Amino acid sequence: MSNIQDKVVIITGASSGIGEATAKEIASKGAKLVLAARREDRLKKLQEEIQDNGGQAIYKVTDVTSHEQMEELAEYTLNQFGKIDVLVNNAGLMPLSFLHQKKVKEWDTMIDVNIKGVLYGIAAVLPFMREHKSGHIINLSSVAGHVSGPTAAVYSGTKFAVRAISEGLRKEEFSNNIRTTIISPGSVTSELTETISDVNLKFVVDEGYKDAIDSESIARAIAFAIEQPSDVAVNEMLIRPTSQEL
Ligand code: NDP
Repeated sequence: MSNIQDKVVIITGASSGIGEATAKEIASKGAKLVLAARREDRLKKLQEEIQDNGGQAIYKVTDVTSHEQMEELAEYTLNQFGKIDVLVNNAGLMPLSFLHQKKVKEWDTMIDVNIKGVLYGIAAVLPFMREHKSGHIINLSSVAGHVSGPTAAVYSGTKFAVRAISEGLRKEEFSNNIRTTIISPGSVTSELTETISDVNLKFVVDEGYKDAIDSESIARAIAFAIEQPSDVAVNEMLIRPTSQEL
């Protein structure tokens, strides 16, 4: 039996890309899923697809930038399934731009979703996990959480922050038997570049994504981390396309 069987897993950003692929991958291995994102039509469609394939999933429309909504997501999960085994803090966006362009609203949104969203997720599930001395928090960083560069200053900043937060969390909670995993993908085919508002830059970035790997590649890595025995914590994984240099 898979070590994923019957685990209750919350996935943020489940409405597309890596979150959606992860939901399908671990639902096929017996997880009970709680799908969260803002687009209800996408969540409903995914829930139906999982159920049609014999899996278990519920969903809750959630904006990760709302501390209240993240707390409600955890409460809803406990009411419906009685426990929380895993949180996948996956929701994120990447509106790349040069700093001199002063896209301040986009900086704010990235900080709100990519950093505060992760913190609110951790805050929402920690009380239950600490009380039960069991749990697993998986945070999506990036190769951009290891290296920064032009147009990626703010995005990289948020992804460096995710790694710093994850390592602090690990050192605070390992003694409560709570596992932490940082997933750092390279280029992955998804809707991620859609938030780049500079048309010329989007064109260049999309060109660079031509060799991107599919979201399922990351979903398999997340499933691997979840299915390890409880005394094994996969703390970090970097997963790039073989052809990616950066
Ligand atoms: P997508 O754009 O396909 O998915 C992003 C998800 O985040 C969507 O489901 C979106 O749902 C959700 N989201 C965005 N804002 C919010 C919000 N305020 N509240 C709740 N959900 C939100 O991109 P990916 O699947 O590629 O991205 C997933 C994660 O992987 C991100 O953290 C990203 O930074 C990271 N990553 C991706 C890489 C790639 O090349 N694709 C590389 C490295 C890291 P909705 O709009 O319905 O709310």
